[in-house]
Amino acid sequence: MQKNEEYILDIVDVTAEGSGVGRADGMAVFVPLTTVGDRAKVKILKVKKSYAYGKLISLIKPSKSRIDNDCPVFNQCGGCVYRHISYYAEKAIKQNKVYENIKRIGGVDIKPQPIIADYPDRYRNKAQYPLDESGNAGFYAFHSHRIIPCEDCLLQPRIFAQITECVCDWARKNDISIYDETTHKGFLRHIYIRKAQVTNEIMVCLVINGDILPESDMLIDSLLKVDGNIKSVQININKKDTNVILGDICKTICGEDYITDVLCGVKIRLSPLSFYQVNHTMAEKLYDKAKEYANPKGKNIIDLYCGAGTIGLSMAKDAKSIIGVEIIPEAIEDAKYNAEINGIKNARFICADATDAAYQLVREGVTADTVIVDPPRKGVSAEVIKTIAHDFHPQTVVYVSCDSATLSRDIKIFGENGYRLKEYTPCDLFPRTAHVETVILLSRA
Ligand code: SAH
Repeated sequence: MQKNEEYILDIVDVTAEGSGVGRADGMAVFVPLTTVGDRAKVKILKVKKSYAYGKLISLIKPSKSRIDNDCPVFNQCGGCVYRHISYYAEKAIKQNKVYENIKRIGGVDIKPQPIIADYPDRYRNKAQYPLDESGNAGFYAFHSHRIIPCEDCLLQPRIFAQITECVCDWARKNDISIYDETTHKGFLRHIYIRKAQVTNEIMVCLVINGDILPESDMLIDSLLKVDGNIKSVQININKKDTNVILGDICKTICGEDYITDVLCGVKIRLSPLSFYQVNHTMAEKLYDKAKEYANPKGKNIIDLYCGAGTIGLSMAKDAKSIIGVEIIPEAIEDAKYNAEINGIKNARFICADATDAAYQLVREGVTADTVIVDPPRKGVSAEVIKTIAHDFHPQTVVYVSCDSATLSRDIKIFGENGYRLKEYTPCDLFPRTAHVETVILLSRA
């Protein structure tokens, strides 16, 4: 196989990143924007030892799953990968990905429960927009920090487009320079917006390479005219030469330091630095499933990687006790406050790295009936898994994961430490993107 050659390929699979896969000359060929069932003319772009990358030239026979793409920047923006196929087909792909990973990496062949999935329009409650050199808000391209301007993302609430437009206008009128990652020069880095689905409260946070926001009164006046639900305007200071979006310091320039939402009947105060599930509707369904698996009635529960306390607090009324662990201090402050405003007295929160907190709890002699873990993509360290299995020694572990590959690796390690996978449910918190969440139930053998 050579670069620039053209092939007619039948697409037989889809990668975890949403790219179609065909076969030619004994090689797998990855072709973005194709899907299972397509017969496509493909141009080879890059050839490796056992696989190659190709580009779709034309469709000879389109898959039955295809639909018309409705977004002008699909293909360019790094957000959605499935706008060209039906949501029905996307659900099947995601369900199967989770199953394949758990079988192949986790070494357990159990069929998943049906994926919990629903595709509410504009489901996200959070966006972080970088700006291009002309001061247009947008998103990064795939595997790149090239900015693709996007006026109105179809995953975001409509109001976010009005807010970004307002901020961009203000920046242009006031000659606010736009941050450039390559030179580490320029002032305005990102526009970060969050909206609480139940209360409609909105937070607007400008991430700046500086300490003070110039012409802030003008910005605040314009923002408050855009929507009366804007309850908090903040700046986040990030002067580091890094591609991490948020710095450590936030300052409120108008309104409250927080916005409040309601999740699973629990009031949740959110500061900009606290993690919060981006899809409220599906997060409630995910937490319901986690609760069913955790079976909290009368149990002592440890909630590792607890963020603002959301999962544990959703079970606190049934549980005997909840201990939440989280590394971000602002998130722990939110979690404590959230327990208080909801009248929850049986929850305690520790701000520490999961490994250190686990050892601290072991020293205190704490054990648990149920341990819930909801780690970031890299999963749980083998050290923490061993502490859970041999020191906390719970009957049940509920693992919520946004990466089924690291989840599967950890299922194997839990297996080596006496815990068996009983059941699992994929849950689509991120329709149209390549991501999928999974919640699993492990039991002590
Ligand atoms: N359970 C929460 C948050 C899940 S996201 C919810 O559903 O909303 C994962 C959380 O793990 C984040 O809040 C992140 O700050 C936290 N985290 C990341 N690394 C950690 C570590 N080493 N120790 C403890 N918490 C960590």
